[in-house]
Amino acid sequence: MTLRSFALLLLGLLAVAGTAPAHSSVSEPCPALDVASAGARHAITHHLCFYAARPGEPAHQAAAPAELQTDLPWQPANGHDLVFSHTDSVYWVQLRLRNGSDRQNLWYLKLNYPLLDEITFWQETEHPGENGGTTEAEPTLVTGDLYPFATRGIDYRYFLLPVTLEALENRIITIRVQSSGALNVPLALMTPGEVIAESNHLTLIHGLFYGALLILAVFNLLLFFSSGTRYYFYNALYISSMAMFLFAMGGFANQYFWPESTDLANLSIPLTLAFCALTMALFGWSFLEVVSRSVPEAILRGLAWSAAGFMVLTFLLPYSKAILLNTVLALTVIISLSVIAAVRWRQGYQPAGWYISAWIITVVGALAYAAAAFGYLGDYLAREVMMQAAIGGQVVLLNYAMVQRWRLLNQKLLDVEHQARTELELKVHQRTAQLRNTMRELEQANQKLASLTVNDALTGLHNRRHMDNLLPELCREARRTGRPLSLALVDADHFKRINDTWGHDFGDQCLRHIAACINKQVKRPRDEAIRFGGEEFALLLPGTDSAGAAQLCQNILDAIRTSEITTPNDDIIHLTVSAGIAQMNPEELPDDLFRRADKALYRSKAVGRDIVTLSEPGAQEQATSTLSRN
Ligand code: GH3
Ligand code: MG
Ligand code: MG
Repeated sequence: MTLRSFALLLLGLLAVAGTAPAHSSVSEPCPALDVASAGARHAITHHLCFYAARPGEPAHQAAAPAELQTDLPWQPANGHDLVFSHTDSVYWVQLRLRNGSDRQNLWYLKLNYPLLDEITFWQETEHPGENGGTTEAEPTLVTGDLYPFATRGIDYRYFLLPVTLEALENRIITIRVQSSGALNVPLALMTPGEVIAESNHLTLIHGLFYGALLILAVFNLLLFFSSGTRYYFYNALYISSMAMFLFAMGGFANQYFWPESTDLANLSIPLTLAFCALTMALFGWSFLEVVSRSVPEAILRGLAWSAAGFMVLTFLLPYSKAILLNTVLALTVIISLSVIAAVRWRQGYQPAGWYISAWIITVVGALAYAAAAFGYLGDYLAREVMMQAAIGGQVVLLNYAMVQRWRLLNQKLLDVEHQARTELELKVHQRTAQLRNTMRELEQANQKLASLTVNDALTGLHNRRHMDNLLPELCREARRTGRPLSLALVDADHFKRINDTWGHDFGDQCLRHIAACINKQVKRPRDEAIRFGGEEFALLLPGTDSAGAAQLCQNILDAIRTSEITTPNDDIIHLTVSAGIAQMNPEELPDDLFRRADKALYRSKAVGRDIVTLSEPGAQEQATSTLSRN
């Protein structure tokens, strides 16, 4: 009944709603079916007759076949399943059976549709020999959703009527069906073995289907618990709700969940349908990453709340209204989600493409289902398998879409990481270059500092510190090699006067002049010219004996004396310097060497200046007056 409304709405929406298969009106009675023949049993729809009794007709009120008028215009099914539109008529179905074999046997009349309100079976044995009369019969089976599940006699979700026929016995089976919505009466006649075989096959398919859904739901739930990503949770909910809806539609829910409750048997379908609408909206909402505070979000929020409200309403409204309302709601959710998914796809959100394909599969499945429900597909049972295939396909595609989404997110993360790493590398590169520059500058500064510490700022010659470092080293070297080392001290004569007469600046200029003259004369690469005091200079001459040093100093004295220098008053003056020389004695300490040279210089000053005095090793210093003033 519920299935009927659902299917009707689906088809109605696609403008193919309407007609059930046409049944031609033929007044001849339907031929009896030889139950012993498998072929005849398969062609049961060619032996069925039915009559739709509208409200108000006597047949609508009739409570037993005996109350039916004898000239009831039965219609043959003509090879079609008895699948009817939504109706408030009572349907009477008649089937005449004959056991053509010579043995008593058992068959089952099977009604492959679980959701009927009330269904009553009568079996009457025909006695052709007694003027076509029949034995009076009580209803064999009175069952349907309005009765507890146990009334079905056999614990099976479809209706099974056992039919035992004696050899050559004729039997008339009459069925009265009434359902508050639409109704389907797809019938089959089978041996017990065939019933078991078919049931086994279907059980396997259902077991696989619901098992797969259950595992996927649990898997998504676990993914949610481990990752905290909300759409896994909604997907688990959606899969569960779909499974519950199909479980109810397939009659399993009535059989296993609430066999005693006729209320729930009717409620379950609209309720699970509204639940599906709710979970579809929630899943789509989170999966499609609908922008918050946007129109699509407002729509989905509204639909989700409506679905929750409709679930409550289902308990309050009559069944027919509830199923209608919830079907409209489910369709609205499906259409809204498809449009939103299409929009998201166009916005470049890739997983929306997979989402749309999943919906397309479902809609195709639903259409096939509806077509089967209306009798457009030959095999009535196929509708269930098709719906399961469609929902299965959808669930698989949705899960694939989630994997794609995850892959996309992962890719984005990798891209961000890659970019970050590249930027970091660039920064490190830049910093390294900066550091290298700084190091170079530092090195230059260090070199400058080092040269400042050993050089004299005024004259550019080396300073006292340099001499203090170098002299002991040169002494050690001379001691080691046995080569001569001479130290010459040069002091400007009467320099105080120059400062006093022309000022300190001119004094400095004179010092630079003296340094330049000294520098010019000191030519050997290892010779060192040093300004070690105010107007005092020293020459460190490794490999030079005292005679060579005296010659060099004399050249310096001559160069200074003969060079002219212009005072601030534009007077031309000549400077003079005195020198004292000492050649290192073997084993002599640097300080002693220096003292001897200083003494020699003192003597130069003492004997009149502008002369060079040699300090003889081990002897008194003597003035080389012969070298002076030549
Ligand atoms: P002498 O050596 O011939 O005995 O006479 P002096 O005048 O040179 O005597 P002394 O060595 O005692 O004087 C050194 C003078 O040199 C003192 C100072 O005025 C001058 N002087 C020392 N250092 C500097 C300097 O860096 N710049 C200038 N302008 N003058 C200096
Ligand atoms: Mg001096
Ligand atoms: Mg002096």
